[in-house]
Amino acid sequence: MSLDLIDIGSNLTHDSFKADRDAVMARALQAGVRRQIITGADLAGSAQAAALAADHPSRLWSTAGVHPHHAQSFDASHGAALLELLRRPQVVAVGECGLDYYRDLSPRAVQRAAFIAQLELAVQTDKPVFLHQRDAHQDFLAVLEDFGGRLKGGVAHCFTGGRTELEAYLALGLYIGITGWACDERRGLELRKSVPHIPANRLLIETDAPYLLPRNMIPAPTSRRNEPGYLPHIAATVARLRGENVEAVGAATTRNAVALFALEES
Ligand SMILES: [Zn+2]
Repeated sequence: MSLDLIDIGSNLTHDSFKADRDAVMARALQAGVRRQIITGADLAGSAQAAALAADHPSRLWSTAGVHPHHAQSFDASHGAALLELLRRPQVVAVGECGLDYYRDLSPRAVQRAAFIAQLELAVQTDKPVFLHQRDAHQDFLAVLEDFGGRLKGGVAHCFTGGRTELEAYLALGLYIGITGWACDERRGLELRKSVPHIPANRLLIETDAPYLLPRNMIPAPTSRRNEPGYLPHIAATVARLRGENVEAVGAATTRNAVALFALEES
């Protein structure tokens, strides 16, 4: 079996990968995860992700944005700095951006303002958006609906919702990013019921490494750190939930990632 998967959400600049990033990348490649989109969650992280991607052309790309947790840091200078990053060819999406009312690490009005400013950047640069939403579905939807057809497209990253949320995001034309959350029979119950209803041409897969280690790996990894090389395990779980084979899920999600992020084939 030879897979050609794309991890659309890998936090490869995270400190936990500092010591052995090359080995982590080699293991991913070995596992069939040939390409990764490195998530930028704040300005410094986005610059690091862009630099890492530039060092690995045709293997790594990146996003540039400010996560709602860090929305309070977002100011006018951020807009200009993100714009500079977004003009680089390896930076393929705006984000991660959105709303997180679960943790509420930044005030909600501040989160909304930073989100809207980043959606404007996406319109301006004609790039898709990499979206985060937790416990903020209604406000998130309202903001996106205001942008109507102006956005180039986007992905609801780490989607964990049920059918209602799914239908709302599909109606907005979004892709749906599935993580190892789908491997969790307890916490992921709603999501596991949604997965079969995601159209094949809207499905994406991601590890969100080093977070969200899939719970059903056998044998369980000795470390709690998730890795992009575990993406085939997520693909297999998604395939099982959909009653498809892993090759079909792999082919569809790779095609979708290439389309959404306009990845140049080398
Ligand atoms: Zn997220």
